[in-house]
Amino acid sequence: MLLSGRVQKIKPSPTLAIEAKAKALKARGVDIISFGAGEPDCDTPDNIKDAARKAIDAGFTKYCPVTGTPDLKAAIIEKFKTDNGLVYTPEEIIVSCGAKHSLYNLFQAVLGKGDELIVPAPYWVSYPDMALLADAKVRIVTTKERDGFKMTPAQLSKAIRKKTKAVVINSPSNPTGSAYTTEELRALAAICIERNILIIADDIYEKLVYDGFSATTIAATIPEAKNITVIVNGVSKAYAMTGWRIGYAAGPKEIIAAMGNIQSQSTSNPTSISLKAAAEALSGSQDSVKTMCGEFAQRRDYIVERLNTIKGVRCFKPQGAFYVFPNVKKLLGKTYGGILINTSAELAAYLLDTAQIATVPGEPFGAPGYLRLSYATSLANIKTGLDRLEQALK
Ligand code: PMP
Ligand code: GLU
Repeated sequence: MLLSGRVQKIKPSPTLAIEAKAKALKARGVDIISFGAGEPDCDTPDNIKDAARKAIDAGFTKYCPVTGTPDLKAAIIEKFKTDNGLVYTPEEIIVSCGAKHSLYNLFQAVLGKGDELIVPAPYWVSYPDMALLADAKVRIVTTKERDGFKMTPAQLSKAIRKKTKAVVINSPSNPTGSAYTTEELRALAAICIERNILIIADDIYEKLVYDGFSATTIAATIPEAKNITVIVNGVSKAYAMTGWRIGYAAGPKEIIAAMGNIQSQSTSNPTSISLKAAAEALSGSQDSVKTMCGEFAQRRDYIVERLNTIKGVRCFKPQGAFYVFPNVKKLLGKTYGGILINTSAELAAYLLDTAQIATVPGEPFGAPGYLRLSYATSLANIKTGLDRLEQALK
């Protein structure tokens, strides 16, 4: 066999696969409404594009420092100071090719054979497979919908074993949009400090929050928490920069240095032009973030309200991100248009085939019986998509 044992344990990202399928169908002329996208539907703001153009014109097109340029690191350090009240030095920061790459490097740097990673479910699809690529095991903690899909301190305590190395906290969450309060995070941080567990804080949706909710990073909840946390964040979601591939991490020097070594032996620096664009995103005007949040808030209110009027569907109202995660368990075990639908995966396939709407089933998020709908698409699309959904379920 040509392939390594490690790579045979993983699958391609299901979220990327569904969005690619929806795009391919659209390109073939099929009238698809996609709720699959994990990316903002607006364009990258002009000030950011201008910074990239300037970088090209100035010949900023060569190799850069592996872990990020001084100007971008300074912008990231400033962001942590103003947004989170956290003080980092440049050696505690690494810039990677997307938050996903930061997470991948981090998993490679801290996890290995015999280690366990605690992942609360529903979880973002890539955590378990990234842990497998590091030869580590995953311990899933299934959260309850009635707890707002949040892991309780009791659940965390119970899941910790001798082999537990780290826990992932993703708030606001993909796929539920649920976000922890500061008090809830403080309680989880206290357990991790006491039990000596590394915290991997995936804060990528930090800025996409609604109704005055403010997202706290777990690293800032107790002074000691910062020393045992690696924060992962990036510009993809907040600045509509998914294609630019810039993410970053902040944490203890030795972990960041190890991530830098992995990066220097694999990708080298992220794209020079994107580094300049990201520096502008973080240090330039933040107006576009506000505008985007205003738009998302409206869509969230609409989609949640409408989903809750559909018989057999129950939808939690999330505090952040741009996803809703309706419970569709009551729709299962029934026949639609002559087709028996037993699982959320079958339901998503049925909706794509018969109603031309793309959704992501709960299964790859570790939550069968749910669907993930991204509302990073126009209100008009959301309306038409939900009309089709209603019709398909009649
Ligand atoms: N974490 C979560 C929870 C995500 O949803 C995403 C989106 N792909 C990422 C990390 C990675 O984002 P990116 O690599 O585009 O920065
Ligand atoms: N995070 C986005 C999503 O969940 C993008 C796809 C991916 O990176 O898996 O849809």
